[in-house]
Amino acid sequence: MKTKTLIALASVAMLFSCGQNTKESTEKNNPDLENFTSKQMKGVEQISIDVDLDGAVKRLSKAVTYKTISNQDRSDFDKEAFSSYHEFLEESYPEVHKTLKKELHGDPRPFSLLYTWEGKDPTLQPALFYAHMDVVPVPEDSRDQWKVEPFAGTVKDGYIWGRGSLDDKNQVHAILEAAEMKIKEGWQPSRTIYFVFGQDEEVGGAEGAKKVADVLEERGIKRFAYIMDESAPLTPGIFPGIEENTALIGIAQKGFVSLELAIHGIGGHSSMPPEESNIGILAEAITKLEKAQFPYRIHPAVRQQYLYMGPELDAENQPLYAAVAFGKDGEVTDMEQKFIEVMSKNEVTRAMLHTTIATTMFNAGIKDNVLPPSATAVVNFRPMPGDTPEVIMAHIKKAIGDDRITMKDISASTPATNIADASGPGYKMLEKTVRQIWGNDLIVSPFFVVGGSDSKHFQARDFAPDVYTMTAIQLENTEEFKGFHGVNERILVDEYAKSIGFFYQIFDNLESL
Ligand SMILES: [Zn+2]
Repeated sequence: MKTKTLIALASVAMLFSCGQNTKESTEKNNPDLENFTSKQMKGVEQISIDVDLDGAVKRLSKAVTYKTISNQDRSDFDKEAFSSYHEFLEESYPEVHKTLKKELHGDPRPFSLLYTWEGKDPTLQPALFYAHMDVVPVPEDSRDQWKVEPFAGTVKDGYIWGRGSLDDKNQVHAILEAAEMKIKEGWQPSRTIYFVFGQDEEVGGAEGAKKVADVLEERGIKRFAYIMDESAPLTPGIFPGIEENTALIGIAQKGFVSLELAIHGIGGHSSMPPEESNIGILAEAITKLEKAQFPYRIHPAVRQQYLYMGPELDAENQPLYAAVAFGKDGEVTDMEQKFIEVMSKNEVTRAMLHTTIATTMFNAGIKDNVLPPSATAVVNFRPMPGDTPEVIMAHIKKAIGDDRITMKDISASTPATNIADASGPGYKMLEKTVRQIWGNDLIVSPFFVVGGSDSKHFQARDFAPDVYTMTAIQLENTEEFKGFHGVNERILVDEYAKSIGFFYQIFDNLESL
C-alpha cells in the first residue's frame, strides 16, 4: 500500500484554520449543522480472544525470511521464494489446507493463492479477504539504517521485525491463524469465504489479483456480501486535527490508466531540418495537455469522509465540513468552492479532486545528428469515477488539437472503483469488530484512497459494490508508518495477537451480515 499519500491526504483537515464562525452562532442559519453530529458507534463490548501467540509469532517471523520481492522489472521474479513460501504456509496451517480448497492463479506466473472455505448455505452471498504475499525490495543504500537484518525475521524488544511484517504478511498470517483456530473448534462458516493472497500487489496486481478477479467473475459470482483488503492501520493522530486513535476505512479508490502518445513522421539529417521536429511536436502536445487539467469536483467518498470525520474536527469549521458532507454532486456551493480552493493548494490533496495527469516517460532520438522518425511519451492518469480511457482520450484530443499524435492504452487499466456504502451493514459490522477488539476509545471513519491496493481489481466490478480497506493492526504512532516500504518495518507482538483476534471475530460477525 502506498502510505505516504494516505497521511498527506488526511492532513487536509489542518489546512483550514481561523474560521470566524462558532458552531453555536451558525447553527440557526444552517439546518445541515443540526444533523452534523457524531456518527461513532457507542457501547460496543470489548472482548479478548486467546490465541497461540508464541506459535503465531514464530510463523510470522519465519514468513519474513522468504524473499517474496516484487521488482519493477518483472523478469526478476524469484519463483523459488514464492514456491517455498507456499509450502511453508501448507506446513504451518494443516487444518486450513485440509479443509479449504487451494488454487494457484496468475498470468503469466501462477503464484497467487485462492482459498475457498465452503459455506454451509450456498444461497448466501460470499465474503472475501484479501492480503498480499509480495514485499517491496530493501534498497542497498538504506541497509545501514536498519536496526536488524530486514529478512532475518527477528523478534526482539516486543516487536516482530522485517520486510513484510507490517505490509502485508501480517495480514496473510493473521487470517490463516484465525481460520486454523476456527477449524480446530469445528466451526464452519454459513457463507462461503474466500482468501486471496496476491503475488504482485506492489507492482499493480495485473498478474495476480486481476487474474483472480477474472476467475471469480467467470465462476458466476453475482455479488460479494463483504470484501476486505489492507489500507491504513489503526493509528493515533493519523488524521491531523484528531489526536485520538483512529481507524480509517477505505471505501473507494481511484483508477489507473497509462496512455502512450506518439508521433510517427519522417526523420532525416540534422543539417536540413524541417521547421517542426517530431520531438517539438510531441513536446508541444504534452505542454497543452498539462495546461488542460481535468476539472475539480468533490468525490462522493470525500463527502462520506467529512460526514464521519467532520463532527470530530474543530468547532469553528463545522459549517465548511457540513457543506462538503451534505453537498450534492453537480452543484458547487460557495462553501464547497472554498473547500476546493484549499484542497487544490497542495498536490496530495489536489489528487483527491480530479483525474490527475502525470507525464512519466519521453523517448526519442539516438544520435546527435539524426532527426528521429518518431517520438513517444507515456502519460499516467489516475481517474475519478466516469473518466474512462475513452473519456480521457477525448479530453486529450480536444486539448492538443493535433491529429498527427496517436494514442494507445498501454496499461492493464482499471477504472475508478465502486464506492462502498459507509452506512451499510458491511461497514457497521467492520466498525463493530474494530471496537470489539480495540475498544470504544477510537474514531472510525470512511475515507477516499488516492493510492490504491489490489482490491481495486475487485472493487471496480459489478460483483463487488462494497469493498472496505483497512489493515487490522494497531500502530503506536504515526512514526511507525515509516516502516511501510521504509526502514525498520515492525509490529508489536501483543498487537499481532489482536490482529488474529480481529479476523477470528469477524468470521463470527459475518454470520449475522
Ligand atoms: Zn501493501
